[in-house]
Amino acid sequence: MSIADALRTATAGLAPTSDTPRLDAELLMAHALGLARTDMLLRQRDLMVPPGFADLLARRMAGAPIAHITGIRDFWTITLRVTPDVLIPRPDSETLIEAAVAHFGGRGPATILDLGTGSGALLLAALDQWPGARGVGVDASPAALAVAQDNARRLGFADRAEFALGDWGAGIGGAFDLLLINPPYIARDAALSGDVLHEPGCALFAGIDGLDDYRRIAPDLPRLIAPNGLAAIEIGHGQRASVSALFEAQGLAVSALPDLAGKDRCLAATRD
Ligand code: GLN
Repeated sequence: MSIADALRTATAGLAPTSDTPRLDAELLMAHALGLARTDMLLRQRDLMVPPGFADLLARRMAGAPIAHITGIRDFWTITLRVTPDVLIPRPDSETLIEAAVAHFGGRGPATILDLGTGSGALLLAALDQWPGARGVGVDASPAALAVAQDNARRLGFADRAEFALGDWGAGIGGAFDLLLINPPYIARDAALSGDVLHEPGCALFAGIDGLDDYRRIAPDLPRLIAPNGLAAIEIGHGQRASVSALFEAQGLAVSALPDLAGKDRCLAATRD
């Protein structure tokens, strides 16, 4: 079977279980061949379907996220290693980096704090964006910190990234030019389906209304944001007013930025 035929058949097979069946099929084919997706697409007429492809496809059809099958996920300008111990980085979260680019422009932040760093996605994307910056990634999960540390090393940022076990802003001294925060924000009883069922609950759920972690983070923000600094905080659908109110109660100025789908996704909080 040609690559083109195999991709067509796989896309049809994945359609009932995936929102992105064609993309999934291409990513799995590229992974089976050990190629980047674009290289696989360009060279497909010269290639054969590798024997491992059927097994990868079967795992995806059984519900495993693509990032767990391939072990990697692209985010902003970097490729991260991903395990079931961390949230799979999402394109929506790139809105936080866009907010930082809009705030700092070419000048860039010198110091960055990523609270709930998970795979390290936000911190490492920011370090790639601003080669002069240094940063700290904090997480409550030792397993997640190991993934983040490994990603920092693989990307060549080990000398600019530190990682620490922690509980949001508790015990963190000093102030940072840029804070990047993607806390859990899904209400405890929300009905979920798809890839999210394979991700760590501690990265997703935040109490009865999804706001528990924002309530705990908010009081530390004024002290952690340096003068002229920015905190870029991810929010869930419909949380703009409630989370803005929590930050405004701490004396912060707050504006919202939409993701690519046009939904409010990031709150930009500053001290003035
Ligand atoms: N955006 C994720 C989702 O809706 C949730 C991530 C989070 O809680 N930080 O699946």
